[in-house]
Amino acid sequence: MKQRRRWMIACLCIFALVAVWKVQAETKSQALPLSGVTVVVDPGHGGKDDGASGGDLKEQEINLAIALKLRTELEKAGANVTMTRDGSYDLASDGATNRKREDMKKRVEIINTEPNDLFISIHLNTYPNVSIHGAQAFYRKGDEASKQLAEIIQRRFNDLTQTEKKSKTGDYFILNESERPGVLVECGFLSNAGDRKSLAQSSYQQQLAQLFTESIEEYLMALTL
Ligand SMILES: [Zn+2]
Repeated sequence: MKQRRRWMIACLCIFALVAVWKVQAETKSQALPLSGVTVVVDPGHGGKDDGASGGDLKEQEINLAIALKLRTELEKAGANVTMTRDGSYDLASDGATNRKREDMKKRVEIINTEPNDLFISIHLNTYPNVSIHGAQAFYRKGDEASKQLAEIIQRRFNDLTQTEKKSKTGDYFILNESERPGVLVECGFLSNAGDRKSLAQSSYQQQLAQLFTESIEEYLMALTL
């Protein structure tokens, strides 16, 4: 009889522990700011297309480094992340006659066909006047949601880079052809020595990843208010 009672008490304790653990796990997942949100992260260029370059830096490599850090930050915040690329390649098929065009079309296809709430396309800039520096967010003309996200990112860009740039409409294929809210961000100028130094640093890339994550959180929060 005593043995049976001990067993019953042991079973009850296990049930209670499992119940507490389940509640804790559910509360935790609900508390994450981006749970249930899917973001497409698009590191610009790749493969033979380096994009811009400056010093020994290649745009495609820095874009990818920032994007991979962004994936980690977004996932930590509870989001699902779809990467258009997660290595040093482009999306065109072998023997494509126009690699750039096919690559861009496939990126847009991912954004338009996979379930997602928004996309962020990561790029770096370059300019003949090497004193030009800072970061800028672009959105599709007439798209109010994307404009709001771009404005939030721009405010944080200006704080980070100590510049006073404005977010702008951009005539980019990925913005023009996408059917979801999203932005193209130029995270700095590879033609500028100061920006180049920052962009090469892992800690600065991490700051950018956090900046984008916080911006997405702020944007989605404003939508639900
Ligand atoms: Zn680019």
